[in-house]
Amino acid sequence: MPDYQTHDKINTGLLVPILTSMIYLNVDFITISIFTISFVFATYFLSPDMDIDSRVFKRWGLLRFIFCPYRDLFKHRKLSHNVILGPISLIGYLAAIIMLVVYLASGVILEYDDRFLIVLAGMVLAIETHIITDKLMSKKKKK
Ligand SMILES: [Zn+2]
Repeated sequence: MPDYQTHDKINTGLLVPILTSMIYLNVDFITISIFTISFVFATYFLSPDMDIDSRVFKRWGLLRFIFCPYRDLFKHRKLSHNVILGPISLIGYLAAIIMLVVYLASGVILEYDDRFLIVLAGMVLAIETHIITDKLMSKKKKK
């Protein structure tokens, strides 16, 4: 199983050709920025390894208690490392907490915004890269 540094390096390395392609395709600056921030955030703070006391989990510092229920609910490398349910559970969990905190703090109910799709694309791609890397490197070790 690759360690957190390997995951960080692979994700960061993947971001270079993605950004190059986006610039080549004349994607606007705001979209590139939102995508990049989301991708980097998901790489460093929302990986599927939130299901254990991983480095990513510890990066949340004092706020890591937010993810204790997620960590305790999911067995390591099971649902959080499923290519479909992994991103849905991680992003859905974080989105639910953000919506709840915003509502409790201000009474505002967050509404859908088209830019959410860009955030989603960045996060999903970072999480999928982690899952695929885990699967490929685990297969390699078994041989
Ligand atoms: Zn993993």
